[in-house]
Amino acid sequence: MSNIHFKLDIDADGIALVTWDSPGRSMNVIDPKVMEELAGIVETVAADAAIKGAVITSGKDTFCAGADLTMLETLSREFTEVVRRQGEEKGTQLLYDESSRLSKLYRRLETSGKPWVAAINGMTLGGGFELCLACHHRVAADNPKSRIGLPEIKIGLFPGAGGTQRIARMMMPGDALQFLLKGDQIRLSQAKGMKIIDALVPADGLIEAAKKWIRDGGKPSNPWDVEGFRLPGGPVYSKGGMMTFPPANAIYRRETYDNYPAARAIMQVVYEGLQLPMDLALRVESRWFTKILRTPEAAAMIRSLFVSMQELNKGARRPQGVPPASFKKVGIIGAGFMGASIGYVTALAGIDVVLIDRDQEAADKGKAHSRKLITEQVNRGRATSAEREALMARIAASSDYTALGDCDLVIEAVFEDRKVKSETIKKAQAVLGKNAIFASNTSTLPITSLAGEFNDPARFVGIHFFSPVERMMLVEIIRGKQTGDKALATALDFVRAIRKTPIVVNDSRGFFANRCVLNYIQEGHLMFMEGVPAAMIENVARMAGMPVGPLSLNDEVALDLGWRILKATEADLGPKAVNAQQKWLLQEMVEKRGRNGRKNGKGFYDYPQSGPKRLWPGLAELQKKRLDPDKIDIAELKHRLLSVQSLEAARCVAEGVITDVREADVGSILGFGFAPFSGGTLSYIDMMGSKRFVKLCKQLEKAHGPRFRAPKLLTEMAEKGDTFYGRFAPGPARAA
Ligand code: NAD
Repeated sequence: MSNIHFKLDIDADGIALVTWDSPGRSMNVIDPKVMEELAGIVETVAADAAIKGAVITSGKDTFCAGADLTMLETLSREFTEVVRRQGEEKGTQLLYDESSRLSKLYRRLETSGKPWVAAINGMTLGGGFELCLACHHRVAADNPKSRIGLPEIKIGLFPGAGGTQRIARMMMPGDALQFLLKGDQIRLSQAKGMKIIDALVPADGLIEAAKKWIRDGGKPSNPWDVEGFRLPGGPVYSKGGMMTFPPANAIYRRETYDNYPAARAIMQVVYEGLQLPMDLALRVESRWFTKILRTPEAAAMIRSLFVSMQELNKGARRPQGVPPASFKKVGIIGAGFMGASIGYVTALAGIDVVLIDRDQEAADKGKAHSRKLITEQVNRGRATSAEREALMARIAASSDYTALGDCDLVIEAVFEDRKVKSETIKKAQAVLGKNAIFASNTSTLPITSLAGEFNDPARFVGIHFFSPVERMMLVEIIRGKQTGDKALATALDFVRAIRKTPIVVNDSRGFFANRCVLNYIQEGHLMFMEGVPAAMIENVARMAGMPVGPLSLNDEVALDLGWRILKATEADLGPKAVNAQQKWLLQEMVEKRGRNGRKNGKGFYDYPQSGPKRLWPGLAELQKKRLDPDKIDIAELKHRLLSVQSLEAARCVAEGVITDVREADVGSILGFGFAPFSGGTLSYIDMMGSKRFVKLCKQLEKAHGPRFRAPKLLTEMAEKGDTFYGRFAPGPARAA
């Protein structure tokens, strides 16, 4: 068999150098062909007496990005087919056999009798790092930018090729569980400290250092295969074990609320596996992996957080035929809270920035924000001083609009006031080039109406960032009625250039994300008015999978902002458009008690100078009714908090605000942390089934009012048993 992914060179000392360099790919990934070739090489090395050992490295900048996840999608289809034709048992057997192949291959490498060294020349993740763990020694090229990790948990899986067992035999069980459950990508120095990498060497000495280990007599066995091996934390059934596993279980529950089957599986495989010899432990891991592959959570998370996100990042929604935009200079008008940070992320992407504000002082203040942010990175060792100076040199601060003359794109982030925006647009267009695209970061004003202020509305688009801009990965691109393809493509190219994930949303009050979020916050307010204890609202929200409770979230985004939006909605759409109970609560909090949220240290919570925030005791005064906590239906509260958001997402689809289901799902997880285990707002409905979802909505509508009324689209879907992904299958046909 001739290899296309690997090159094998044997030197005069009989050491094989295996270089992994998959053709036509920017990074190495594991797929069936890679496994087949590697298996052949392992056998060659094992069988050839002239080969003393092997060093495996990569011919690319990085070592390996992990497994090709489309492989799992194919496997899942095969499984369904075998179950249909030959029954459940045969299907499960197929899934087990196929999904344990990589684990068996690595075990064969580990026990082949020849020493293997991983020469890690760059980032290595997931199955790529599991390969390194199976090797008998790991040397890495020292590079502060390289990362290693087992991030499978982030897409609803866990390391299933021996990762859980080897990691748990290399470090204390508590540390191993943290590493596996967090799925963080860590720096090499940290990995060395954790002893999961043996040596860090300069890049040009990497292969030599790896070979030297073999020449110096490196043994072809890992510690757990040597007689007398002891687990770092002692046996599971020991004093140490008892100090670890019961509290770890409590931490696991606190962090996940048992919503993530893969996280639970990690707890289980480590606990069970550490009581067994390696070969049996690996079988336990493979069985759990097979089980997890079949969970709807894994399927939904892989789809949204890997497949869809990658597709959107690569421009799935980009209008075809528009040449790619390049950005030499981007103008930002309004160097305030948002504008300053937008300037920072733009400059970070290597693009020159002109930051404009009303006067030089305000513009300089905006620029100083970038210095603060990049200095934090320098202090954490994530950037160098030279990078800081280069970044600062890319930002020009000014009060002179003519500086915008040669910008390819201008984004305004001035006050949320129609008059100010209108003046800004007029002043900018007087100096802009005739091909430049103008974007607004407004959160509430319709893009279509703002575009009316611009002489060429086809070149006007919404680019809506979330705060804090430097951390939030989602950007909503708002297409006004007259926004042209070039403006849309430019906005998408810009978001790609700053390495964030875009979703394209048609113009609507609140666009997409804020519509869902406002419903979530409102539901928290209404539960409070019904008499549900505030602490219960907050805890139940986290049990349902939200990162923060609705009252905390309201404090973060500011109560006075919510109050202003409510008043504006009432003024524009009439009193029926707002909820009287919510209006009363916000008026009491904001107008009568000056509680604006975290920003003034008092909202639903108090924020003492030192110590954690606490629910404000004065809330008792505002809660006229109190329900008996023991009689409250927790499952219903959880469903209410998620379904008000999912219903809004479904309405966005029904109204054509969202035209691609992937965007509602990815947007809801990245934009407001919607229960990631569900795969997003629409996947939540698909997972439950539209029939059951609509039935529950009907019950909630009866008990709590019309905000739970399912849109016609959903009732129709329920009648037919449709899913969003079945009915609105995303793909090239819908892409543009
Ligand atoms: P901000 O008040 O912090 O900043 C506005 C800046 O615009 C100020 O520095 C002000 O001096 C400047 N400015 C006002 N008029 C100007 C003019 N004519 N020319 C130049 N500069 C001018 O406000 P912000 O929170 O950064 O919000 C800005 C925009 O971003 C608003 O449209 C808001 O709706 C939107 N937005 C805000 C958030 C958020 O979380 N704050 C999130 C998404 C979008």
